[in-house]
Amino acid sequence: MIYAKNITKTFGDLQVLKGIDLEIPTGKLYSIVGPSGAGKTTLLQILGTLSNPDSGELLIKDESVFKLGEKQLAAFRNREIGFVFQFHYLLPEFNALENVCLPALIAKKGKKETEERAKELLDFLGLSQRLTHKPSELSGGERQRVAVARALINKPAVIMADEPSGNLDSKNRDDLHDLFFKLRDEFNQTLVIVTHDENFARQSDRIIRMRDGRIEE
Ligand code: ADP
Repeated sequence: MIYAKNITKTFGDLQVLKGIDLEIPTGKLYSIVGPSGAGKTTLLQILGTLSNPDSGELLIKDESVFKLGEKQLAAFRNREIGFVFQFHYLLPEFNALENVCLPALIAKKGKKETEERAKELLDFLGLSQRLTHKPSELSGGERQRVAVARALINKPAVIMADEPSGNLDSKNRDDLHDLFFKLRDEFNQTLVIVTHDENFARQSDRIIRMRDGRIEE
């Protein structure tokens, strides 16, 4: 699903990624771990096409993404990559259902089918009673599940998550982690998750351990 070859990235004098090679198969959950400053977020941002590498190649679903034009890349990203961050980034003026629908409407999918899928997803995530709630009316765990539903709405090739449970208490963290495994097992969803949670990482299909801009293990 994802093939990265010799990815490098430098900020000023600092080479943050020193040649990353990575292959992530369909339907697997890979975790990225390592000390702060190792380059985890930078790598995830590049794998998610949010940031360009200085060199290297990235194929997602056989598409050489950095060869796409700006508009095509934005459309590809919206369609094929679902993001979940530590902070939910839901739009405060929209309710849960509207927030989840947004990426599909941007992809010009029909309103009716989009709403149906969004409701199914929110139901699957235990949020069928929260459709018309605004983010400020939801708990932290609920907000993060809405963000996961939004990430899933376009049936993306991959979910990329950066410390998705970093702001949650232990119960909500465990629930979110269980959800990620459920997505893998029930939908064959590919996921790449940056985490500090070694316990969660140990349960993933593979741990990518980074240090100082390289994959150590
Ligand atoms: P991690 O996620 O493993 O903590 P990051 O990828 O966030 O590591 O950062 C790796 C290094 O790159 C750090 O030293 C960080 O300060 C630096 N860095 C990250 N983004 C930028 C940026 N936009 N400009 C300058 N330096 C950056």
